[in-house]
Amino acid sequence: MSEITENEVWEALGSITDPEIPVISIVELGVVRTVRVDAERTVVEITPTFSACPAYQAMAGSVERKLREMGATGVEVRTVLHPPWSTDWLSDEAREKLRRFGLAVPDRHQGNLEGAIEAGQAACPYCGSSNTRQTNPFGCTPCRAMGFCQDCRQPFEQLKPL
Ligand SMILES: [Zn+2]
Repeated sequence: MSEITENEVWEALGSITDPEIPVISIVELGVVRTVRVDAERTVVEITPTFSACPAYQAMAGSVERKLREMGATGVEVRTVLHPPWSTDWLSDEAREKLRRFGLAVPDRHQGNLEGAIEAGQAACPYCGSSNTRQTNPFGCTPCRAMGFCQDCRQPFEQLKPL
């Protein structure tokens, strides 16, 4: 048996952050799908948040490096594209961290009580108002869009809804 447990792998991966969003780990982001450890192999499946995300290669590289640092045997990092990553996978804690980072997160697709929020449109990260609009579908990275709060009159960045 490998001396490393699956829990230890999860813990180690929890210390890797998204290069573009340093406040949140790739585990919290929902990027890490499965971890399997057996005698010969350590297999981690990850899903890119956005298929065109340039940070993805860096993330995959960090995962592989981290596993090797731990002394894992037969390291394999696999990319899983289905089902595709969704902003719905973000935990409430992750959403709160992103909001404090100043990055708005679109509401979940289902089960939200605030029907006032237009599908995919994020609430203002500064004042919480849902009276916002998307001003530019292209933020500073391919994963982000620009929004504008019509209550506190501030522009903000949001993750594109997926
Ligand atoms: Zn606002």
